[in-house]
Amino acid sequence: MRNMMREDLQELVAYSTLEKLLPYRLHANESPWDWLKTYPQELMDVVMNTAMNQYPEGTSLKLRTALREYTGAEVESITVGSGSDELIKMATEAFVSPGEKVIIHTPTFSEYGVSAMIASGQLVTVASDENFSIDVEAIIQKANAVKARMIFLCVPNNPTGVALSKEAILKVLNETEAIVISDEAYYEFCGVTVAAEAAVNPRLIVLRTLSKAFGLAALRVGYAIGHPETIECLNKVRMPYNLNALTQNIACMALKYSDRVAAMAQEMRQERQRVMEALEARPELKVYPSKANFILFKTPVAQLTQEVLEEKGVLIRRFNSEVMADCLRINIGAPEVNTMVVKTIQEVLDGTKRR
Ligand code: PMP
Repeated sequence: MRNMMREDLQELVAYSTLEKLLPYRLHANESPWDWLKTYPQELMDVVMNTAMNQYPEGTSLKLRTALREYTGAEVESITVGSGSDELIKMATEAFVSPGEKVIIHTPTFSEYGVSAMIASGQLVTVASDENFSIDVEAIIQKANAVKARMIFLCVPNNPTGVALSKEAILKVLNETEAIVISDEAYYEFCGVTVAAEAAVNPRLIVLRTLSKAFGLAALRVGYAIGHPETIECLNKVRMPYNLNALTQNIACMALKYSDRVAAMAQEMRQERQRVMEALEARPELKVYPSKANFILFKTPVAQLTQEVLEEKGVLIRRFNSEVMADCLRINIGAPEVNTMVVKTIQEVLDGTKRR
């Protein structure tokens, strides 16, 4: 059967998350708090008031209206996806024709490359430097040289945590002719956004998600902000009823609590600082400055650290690629878990020293 699949896609590996069932999940940049459950009656009312026998409202208008309150963008400037994953795919499907070039900086989030491939686009990579700083000049130069159709900028970048400035994003936009996607999945932990510019510039699209700061990864809600004409293009390739009614209604409820979400994001930023300082105090580690809810660091004992943390019930992410050899990514969890994780990392380093 494999032979009958599109030849250019046969080497793809299906996305899977066959992970160990451990209590502390610091490997997927999720929120540690299932906070909506602290409003059980309201949540139950939302569920009970959702008509299960009817198709959902197809354009998620109520949700887009709630997102207008949250983002300041007009409803015509917003579309939604089943996670921002779906929006990445919609963007490449809508705008990238076979053979057209799609630029990514590396290392970055893998779905850009996968979506570009599925759209039959041609991926062009621009390597970041040894500190994982993103080389904006090189991106511009490459984009113009290959006449790129699309450029993905991940701000802040997963998995490195490095963030471009707003000026840098707009420089890429202004000095190329490509459609620029600013993936702001971790916006609430960083604060850099070009949402206002995206609403008026047809070549700029901002992607956001409720999976991270809002802590609703299970619901699968992402949104795009763009010029109404650009959003209309995205809607043309959107699956009918791509967000189910429960998801739409629960997301609307969650958006009413955006003040609480902001407070949680603030706590995550403080914790990030605390963990960062503790790790930076160890000369054996190279810690990359992060503007997201995770920290990437390089350690001489990456595998051992991962194994010991797993014994303690903590899942983290270890990278194997050449540029990211010995790198571990841990996302910020609840304060007591962060304390335990930092202590474990220190103990592993001390144990190694004694050997
Ligand atoms: N963009 C980035 C940069 C991410 O890290 C992720 C998830 N890890 C996504 C998009 C997708 O998020 P979701 O589909 O849950 O909205």
